[in-house]
Amino acid sequence: MSSLFDLTDRVALVTGSSRGIGNALARALADAGATVVLNGVNEERLKDAAAAMAADFPPGRVHSVAFDVTSDAEAARGVAWVEEQVGPLEILVNNAGIQHRVPMLDLDVKDWERVISTDLTSAFLVGREAARFMIPRGHGKIINICSVQTDLARPTIAPYIAAKGGLRNLTRAMTAEWAASGLQINGIAPGYIHTEMTQNLVDDEQFNSWILGRTPANRWGTVRDLAGPAVWLASSGSDFVNGQTIFIDGGMTVVV
Ligand code: NDP
Repeated sequence: MSSLFDLTDRVALVTGSSRGIGNALARALADAGATVVLNGVNEERLKDAAAAMAADFPPGRVHSVAFDVTSDAEAARGVAWVEEQVGPLEILVNNAGIQHRVPMLDLDVKDWERVISTDLTSAFLVGREAARFMIPRGHGKIINICSVQTDLARPTIAPYIAAKGGLRNLTRAMTAEWAASGLQINGIAPGYIHTEMTQNLVDDEQFNSWILGRTPANRWGTVRDLAGPAVWLASSGSDFVNGQTIFIDGGMTVVV
């Protein structure tokens, strides 16, 4: 592999990687040589995911730490654990996220806050803790997983749209404060990707045909489609890419 994209000896923490996109991104980073740390809140699922991935790599390359990304104290504990138990954190992927589908007039403020804190505040909390270690070392990569909803709106997912739009601007704010210290902070905005989170949409015939019609590539994305962009943004191949959000969406956001 070209050394530009080689992640050997780099430690990567991927939040929300017990399944779905986060799990696939952690595997892609490990395939590129990184030592990866998986995260989630459900300890049983996280343990199983780490064991399954560890079986495919040499000993010591796959770790896991359960913590809730919405908690200030937990985020600090999780990042400190990585630094102490695994090594200097070089790559952080802020991926953990949830959705809650309710029309806004029926939306409870508790559900609004739950989505905002999981999909937006978490990236500030974990990103800040990671940056405390990365800045003195003068390098580090942070990748924030946004969405096409960063730019587009649909009914019933208002807090998700607000959070993902905010995440794109948080990516810029982190860049404004930390790029001069050698950090690159960028976003990946996936289109509709077939995972557990979207299984109900894949199964909904009407929605499914709307997605296919709305996506120039005429298909759902797969977690594999996100692997290359993530490895690139985590590698030294992207060292002068700062504050960008890259849409991996089969062209969805460039057509009406
Ligand atoms: P999944 O529902 O498949 O997985 C979500 C992951 O986040 C799980 O590992 C879950 O852990 C973890 N998680 C949820 N809440 C917390 C928390 N408070 N603390 C720590 N971990 C948490 O989601 P996807 O893989 O589909 O989505 C991943 C990201 O990609 C999200 O940010 C989503 O918004 C974004 N995205 C997804 C798209 C799609 O089409 N699927 C499209 C665009 C963006 P646990 O197993 O413990 O619950």
